Amino acid sequence: MQRILKYIDDREDFLILLWEKGSGWHTATKHSKVLKDADYSQMDLFHLKNWVYKDDVPTFNVFLDQMKAAMSGNSSSITSHDRKSTIAVRLLADNGAYLYQNIECWLDWEDKKISRIFVMTDPLDVEEVHRIRIAQTFTADLNPALFQDQVAELIHSHPDMEFAVIQFDVAKFKMITADYGEEKATELLNFFVSTLKVICNKYQLYSRLSADVFMIITPYEDKADLYDFVELLDQHLLGYDGMQYRIVYGVCPIGDLTGGLRQYGDAAAMARQSIKDDALQKVAFYHTALKKDISTSKFIEDNMNQALENGEFVMYLQPKCNIANGGIVGAEALVRWIMPGHGIVPPNDFVPVFERNGFIIKMDQYIWEEACKLIRKWMDAKITPLPISINVSRRHLRDINFIQILDSLIEKYQIPKSLLEIEITETVNEAGISESMQQLKDHGFTLLMDDFGSGYSSLNTLKDTQFDVIKIDRSFLQDFIGSARGQRIVEHTIQMAKSIGLDMIAEGVETKDQADFLQNCGCNTAQGFYYAKPMPVEEFEKLYIH
Ligand code: C2E
Ligand code: CA
Ligand code: CA
Repeated sequence: MQRILKYIDDREDFLILLWEKGSGWHTATKHSKVLKDADYSQMDLFHLKNWVYKDDVPTFNVFLDQMKAAMSGNSSSITSHDRKSTIAVRLLADNGAYLYQNIECWLDWEDKKISRIFVMTDPLDVEEVHRIRIAQTFTADLNPALFQDQVAELIHSHPDMEFAVIQFDVAKFKMITADYGEEKATELLNFFVSTLKVICNKYQLYSRLSADVFMIITPYEDKADLYDFVELLDQHLLGYDGMQYRIVYGVCPIGDLTGGLRQYGDAAAMARQSIKDDALQKVAFYHTALKKDISTSKFIEDNMNQALENGEFVMYLQPKCNIANGGIVGAEALVRWIMPGHGIVPPNDFVPVFERNGFIIKMDQYIWEEACKLIRKWMDAKITPLPISINVSRRHLRDINFIQILDSLIEKYQIPKSLLEIEITETVNEAGISESMQQLKDHGFTLLMDDFGSGYSSLNTLKDTQFDVIKIDRSFLQDFIGSARGQRIVEHTIQMAKSIGLDMIAEGVETKDQADFLQNCGCNTAQGFYYAKPMPVEEFEKLYIH
């Protein structure tokens, strides 16, 4: 039901209205504290605040801020397409009761700015009141079942629409409490609730699942809608009162509801958790692979410390061979997690998890030490020691102690630096990292560029590189070796690297043809299944020492 806008004259009890460009707000009538439910029709948006029920004031403030932004042409959420903007709040009547009202603002635009607003209020219909009540009770974490019913009802009554769950929370919320205090943190969460009240329309149900976890059910047509909505949320939720925090969003489309809404909520939660430690990501969509990933990554995190103590991380070695005669000229140390009851877990399953949670620092040190120990053992046994290359995750390069750790290992085991080689993955140069690399060089370590040709700039990175040796990635070889043109690229890359004084080793060599081709191109060293797979130290020694 919509009422026709009319000016109200002084004789009437009621309210105030209308903002006009250049002249500020006009009060059309004297305001009265009395709000009679059906009678009033127009009011001044900014004065209205005095009658908004106290719990809804923050919500209302957010709404006012949006309006102000639109008046000055700075709004991202209200655009000149919008003819009307509404908010549902409770207004206090003089008897102390509050009334659910829709406040409708009719917008006039001029030069992408609001030039005029008419405000009127409308009692909410029963359904709408119900929805808000639920949001409020559920926000207080009182009635999840009711919310589920509400969602089910919404979805069933709109069979033509697709819906998705969006879950979000504040990354490292505990830090917020530590940095800003409990009270401020609570204020922040209340601000979220208030903001959601404004942003969500009647097809978007929201609720607060726990302290800082929120969930929204929203319709969408394609994925872009969901990204847009997340962007909108992010814009409004970030930066409260100058506080610094990051919000992470997980998204899962809702399918068949017979198994309940819960599964989709859980899936969105998984997606959210999968990026919570990754400062560069803010939204993740659920995909089925995640289920396994997360269950294992949780498992991994629960077990990693114990595993290190129990010696479950084991150094395997993969030979590096001279292509011409097949002789072993070195080895790469590759970690394996030998998990009792689970067998051998490959590094790709846990190294990325450790890189995210920082445990890689501990685990790598352990492997590096194993490598140093082995070199020492060979030296003591008068076996010609082979250089062993260790993998250094880029995470270490930001840590100033990292070089000291390597130095102290060299010192502890009294081994030549030339025997401990360092593999670092090729990526674009980050500030600070190239400095650490220079220090490594200054300390006399040999640097190998791992995975060359698998990712970024490749040829360009060679120009002023600090690396001594280039490891050609398996994918580079595979991608190019199939065509005559590709072969020429490999050939020229190898020659160019050589001509600027870099050594080459090819990784992932699986066939004799590949080995022959590489040799013809001038690459003399290779590592790959054609020669041998990574293996336990004892096996490696059998192969090397005979
Ligand atoms: P990476 O450093 O590029 O290691 C080479 C990977 O290629 C190894 O996988 C090796 O088993 C595999 N490989 C070698 N030759 C062949 C071949 O001919 N064919 C095929 N298909 N694969 C071959 P792995 O051992 O599973 O290690 C995977 C990755 O995990 C490594 O890639 C490295 O990035 C990481 N990683 C392994 N050990 C460590 C470690 O101790 N510390 C750190 N930070 N990362 C490690
Ligand atoms: Ca490597
Ligand atoms: Ca590699």
